[in-house]
Amino acid sequence: RALPADPEAKNYRRQVSEACYSRVSPTSVREPQLVAYSREMADILGLSPEAVETPEFAQVFAGNKLLKGMDPFAMCYGGHQFGNWAGQLGDGRAINLGEVVNPQGEHWTLQLKGAGPTPYSRMADGLAVLRSSVREFLCSEAMHHLGVPTTRALSLVLTGEEVQRDMFYDGNPQMEPGAVVCRVAPSFLRFGNYQLFAARGEIETLKKLVDYTIQTDFPGLGDPGRDTYLAWFEEVCRRTADMIIHWMRVGFVHGVMNTDNMSVLGLTIDYGPYGWLEDFDPNWTPNTTDASGRRYRFGNQPQIALWNLVQFANALYPLIEEVEPLQEALDQYADRFQKGWQQMMVEKLGLTSFQADEDVSLIESLQEVLQLVETDMTIFFRRLALLETDADLDDETLLAPLRDAYYAPEKVTGDIQKQICDWLRRYQNRLQQDGTEPAERRTRMNEINPKYVLRNYLAQIAIDKAEEGDFSLVNELLDVLRHPYDEQPGREQYAEKRPEWARNRPGCSMLSCSS
Ligand code: AMP
Ligand code: MG
Ligand code: MG
Repeated sequence: RALPADPEAKNYRRQVSEACYSRVSPTSVREPQLVAYSREMADILGLSPEAVETPEFAQVFAGNKLLKGMDPFAMCYGGHQFGNWAGQLGDGRAINLGEVVNPQGEHWTLQLKGAGPTPYSRMADGLAVLRSSVREFLCSEAMHHLGVPTTRALSLVLTGEEVQRDMFYDGNPQMEPGAVVCRVAPSFLRFGNYQLFAARGEIETLKKLVDYTIQTDFPGLGDPGRDTYLAWFEEVCRRTADMIIHWMRVGFVHGVMNTDNMSVLGLTIDYGPYGWLEDFDPNWTPNTTDASGRRYRFGNQPQIALWNLVQFANALYPLIEEVEPLQEALDQYADRFQKGWQQMMVEKLGLTSFQADEDVSLIESLQEVLQLVETDMTIFFRRLALLETDADLDDETLLAPLRDAYYAPEKVTGDIQKQICDWLRRYQNRLQQDGTEPAERRTRMNEINPKYVLRNYLAQIAIDKAEEGDFSLVNELLDVLRHPYDEQPGREQYAEKRPEWARNRPGCSMLSCSS
């Protein structure tokens, strides 16, 4: 199932036509040093800790050395960026080393991010700085352990070289340490891979890529052909809906949902200026580049995913040549998202059944209650599990377990307090009616409402230390985030709400695309 390759096996920048990828060579770096790795991912690939902790591993995963069978390449893709068609983008700083088939028969692609320029680097250097690499490495693994579909991260390697970045776009570039993350996924194919060929009218290449994708990653759908193409599109719609429901469940804001950052496997991909909701504010986006339009704000993610699927449908249209079935699949996305989101919210509340009208109204008013005052989403749901179900508690006692979730607890008085308590009493009633034991409800809620997420300011403290050569917090956070739903005594500090000093600090709540 060979895909068309770019005949010019060189890394110089150019438009590449009628090819799905270009063979490239990673750029060698001075002094590779492994500073963190995921033992779970290593294990999946059949790599023992001893194998990982050798100098050869750091050489390979910095891009200095190729192992037998590796034939590195960069993929050609396009995409809509912030709503506008951007033409050819491609893997500007990602290089696939090849695929590993593990003893379980799963295939995993290894991809270096930041290992030097490719034909798709356009104006940029093909490199990645330590701060963004730490963020990608930690969040990939954190998301996996939260149960959110995602690309994975095997390793974080320092290059021993410096990279120039203008982090604040103020014309004062700085030197920062360079790093390479090895990402791992069954496939890194994005909506944009297919879009580019459709946009250029290269329908034969489009068809080859679609056939390849179905045969490689969706073999259960059957032989390629028009019906299978449709079934595949429906499957991508379903997976995308499920991924977004997970994001909404854990309070993840991707930040750059361009169509080149949408995986056809329904995986979270490209950890750039992402962030975690602290205060429950549906309008929040961590991406300062998007501050005015807020296209990629938390509450808009379900809509944007649909918009992206529409662009993807347009790209597949030449292979299907009928609008109606594509439209039906898009309608199914909306329906699946809506129902799945409601079900997820009801589970976050620890209810065992879904009572249509009553619960829709309950979760809708909860959205309002969460916005009355600054409320930490993660702490709120975790504490809600501790709510007493006793019907005649006074307001103070009722609210006691939730106080910690408020950034300004002194504002929770008067009318605001009354509105919150009204909702809590409605919820109590609903719990009574649902009839589960409080202990059982607590256990169930704690399985869906994480205690530990990669809080923005924690990632930034880990980065500050890493930039001084201390990787202990990177590794500690990696370990904490292995068990996000468990109580971890002695690690309460990683579950606390954002301190005031971090409110408007760059890196803690605001991020640029510079990485
Ligand atoms: P992103 O906004 O991270 O999805 O990136 C958009 C496009 O820019 C992709 O084609 C990337 O490969 C490319 N890109 C981002 N950063 C760099 C870089 N430092 N060097 C080369 N290409 C880059
Ligand atoms: Mg990207
Ligand atoms: Mg990126």
